[in-house]
Amino acid sequence: MVDKQKDVVIVGGAVVGCATAYYLVQSGVPGERIAVVERDPSFATCSTARSAGGLRQQFSTPENIAMSQVTLDLIRNLKERFGPDADVGFREQGYLILASDSGSSILKSNVETQRERGADIVLLSAEELAARFPWLAIDGLACGSFGQSGEGWLDPVSLTDLFRRAARAAGVEYIHDTVTAMEVSDNAVQCVVLASGRRITCGAVVNAAGPSAGMVAALAGIQLPVEARKRYIYVLDCREATQELRRAPLTADPTGVWFRPEGQLFICGLSPEEENEPPAEDLDYIDHAFFEEEIWPKLAARVPVFESVKVVNAWAGFYDYNTLDQNAVIGPHPEVRNFYFANGFSGHGLQQAAAAGRAVSELIVHGAFQTLDLTRFGYARIAEGRPLRELNVI
Ligand SMILES: Cc1cc2nc3c(=O)[nH]c(=O)nc-3n(C[C@H](O)[C@H](O)[C@H](O)COP(=O)(O)OP(=O)(O)OC[C@H]3O[C@@H](n4cnc5c(N)ncnc54)[C@H](O)[C@@H]3O)c2cc1C
Repeated sequence: MVDKQKDVVIVGGAVVGCATAYYLVQSGVPGERIAVVERDPSFATCSTARSAGGLRQQFSTPENIAMSQVTLDLIRNLKERFGPDADVGFREQGYLILASDSGSSILKSNVETQRERGADIVLLSAEELAARFPWLAIDGLACGSFGQSGEGWLDPVSLTDLFRRAARAAGVEYIHDTVTAMEVSDNAVQCVVLASGRRITCGAVVNAAGPSAGMVAALAGIQLPVEARKRYIYVLDCREATQELRRAPLTADPTGVWFRPEGQLFICGLSPEEENEPPAEDLDYIDHAFFEEEIWPKLAARVPVFESVKVVNAWAGFYDYNTLDQNAVIGPHPEVRNFYFANGFSGHGLQQAAAAGRAVSELIVHGAFQTLDLTRFGYARIAEGRPLRELNVI
C-alpha cells in the first residue's frame, strides 16, 4: 500500500473512528499511515457525546454480549493500557430489565444465553424484585433480569479521548474536514475527496460516520440501511428519592421506558413506536409533551416516588439506526472490497466501539477476524435482506 498517501482513511472521529484508529496502531499499522477525517471536532452533535453511556451484557445476540465484554475488559484494565490517570467514570450499578407475562419467556431465554457466555445475570421473580428493589412497584411484572456485576454506565467522551490521545500520540493524522466524495474503480475506493479540495489516496476506507453512515456509504455507491433516529433524554430531579433509589441500576420497564440515576439526579427515555418517530432534522427541539404523556405516567406507575419529579434539563441525540435489524454492520463491502463498515449500532454503539474498532483493524491487517468472530454482522445479510434481529434494544 506504500504508493498511497494513507493506508487507511477513517471517516468520522468520534468513539468508533477513534477506537478503530487505536486498534489499527495496536495491530502494527504505523500511525502516520492512518488519517481520521472529522467534520466537527467540537463533537457537539455526534451520537457519542449525546449517549447515555450504558454498558450491559443483557442482549439476545451472542455477538453483542461478547462485544460489550470487550469494553468491560478494557475498563477493567484501563490503567495498564492507557496510563495511571485513565478513567472513564464507570458506575457499575447494573441493568435491570423487567418483563410482564408476555415477555417473560424471551427474557428467560436471553438470560440463559447471557449466562452461558459468562455474564453475571440473575433472573428474579416479582417477589424477589420487590425485596431487592423496594422502590419498585411490581404490578404486572412476571420477572426481571439483573446484572450483578459488569454492567453500568461510563462517560462516553472520556472513553473517546483515551482512544484519540493514544492514536494521536502514535502519529495518526486527525483532519478537520468533511468527506464529500470517493473515487471508486477496480472494485476499490482509490481516493477520498474532502470539502477543502484535498484528495487522499488510500488503501482502505472505514465508515465510522454514525448516523450519517448511510450517506457516507452512498459516496462510494453503496446502499446501507442506517439512518438517524432522534431520541430524547430527560433529566429529572426527585427530591423524595431514597438512597436506595439513588443507587438503582438502569431499569427498563416492559413498556420500554427506562431510567437511571445520574449524580444527584436521574435520566430517562423511551424509544417511540416506529409510526411515531419524530423527524430526525435537528437536535435543538425537545418534545416535552412526549415526557408528560408517554414517559411520566409509565415511570410513576413503576416507581411511585417519581409521581413528584421535575424535568430540570433534556437533550436530544441521533441513534445510528440500522432499519433492517437494529444490529451492527461490521466488515468489508463484498464488491467495493476496501470499504469497511463499522456502523448501525442502533443505540448500543458506545459499548461496542472497542470491539468494532478491533474487529475492523483485524480485517484490514490480517484479512480475517482474529479474536471475536463477527461474520454474522457482515454486509451479506444486508445485501440479502436477511435480518439478524437484536431483541433487547433500549
Ligand atoms: C440519546 C442516545 C443514547 C445512547 N445511549 C447509549 C448507551 O447507553 N449505550 C451505548 O452503547 N450506546 C448508546 N448510544 C449509541 C451510541 O452513542 C452510538 O452508537 C455511538 O456513539 C456511535 O459512535 P460513532 O462514532 O459511530 O458515531 P458518532 O458519535 O455519531 O460519530 C460519527 C462522526 O462522524 C462524523 N462524520 C459524519 N459524516 C462525516 C463526513 N462526511 N466527513 C467527516 N466526518 C463525518 C460526525 O461529525 C461524527 O462526529 C446512544 C445514542 C444516543 C443518541
